[in-house]
Amino acid sequence: MSKRALERRLAEVRGFEDPQVELEQYPTPADLAAHLVHLADVHGDVAGRTVVDLGAGTGVLALGAATRDPARVVAVDVDEAALDRARENERRVAPAVGVDWVRGDATRPPLCPAGRGADAGVTVLMNPPFGAQRGNEHADRAFLDAAASLSDVSYSIHNEGSREFVEAFAGDAGGEVTHAFRAELPLERQFAFQQEQRRVLDAEVFRVKWPPSPTSDGGSRGER
Ligand code: SAH
Repeated sequence: MSKRALERRLAEVRGFEDPQVELEQYPTPADLAAHLVHLADVHGDVAGRTVVDLGAGTGVLALGAATRDPARVVAVDVDEAALDRARENERRVAPAVGVDWVRGDATRPPLCPAGRGADAGVTVLMNPPFGAQRGNEHADRAFLDAAASLSDVSYSIHNEGSREFVEAFAGDAGGEVTHAFRAELPLERQFAFQQEQRRVLDAEVFRVKWPPSPTSDGGSRGER
């Protein structure tokens, strides 16, 4: 399926019914989700592998990956209402591979996506909370930590100006940023405090190659 066809399919995905501001529930638009999934697929990071979407929300990244022949897709979110919407979205998109929707805190390891496909490697795709809300400043750090502990490659969306931080974080973990690009993240007005109807946020997307797992227990490095 072409990137444009994928984008059309992902345009069926509906956003949050009742978005929670403290969880930073902003959906990734279909064009950026399709771009990210397509890029991951072209790099050989989707087909045959386990794909984990951390902070999956209404599921656009997980569902995109599920159309590209992965061994398995696991999508984690703390919010049951978002996961209900994601399951609805799965029926709309109807990917060939089913998604395992898991309610849980994505930042509390160990998450062990062992089983089918884990031997071929684990890819994390995520648009995590950026930590823009007070009291939540390091939200993306905790998500990167989770990606480092359970995947060998991750794709993540961050707010503008995150490159140094992500490169330093990856370097400290023995990994490296292999690709970086800018993207626009249009934010439709979801919350009463937002003045404009639509605001475009400059975002940055990174592909990080994490060091190989020292264990052979299905890709998880466990506690670090
Ligand atoms: N990945 C989705 C949603 C992005 S919004 C998309 O691209 O459209 C960020 C998501 O992270 C929200 O759904 C929120 O509920 C979830 N989230 C926030 N903190 C979390 C945590 N600690 N563990 C799991 N999910 C979390």
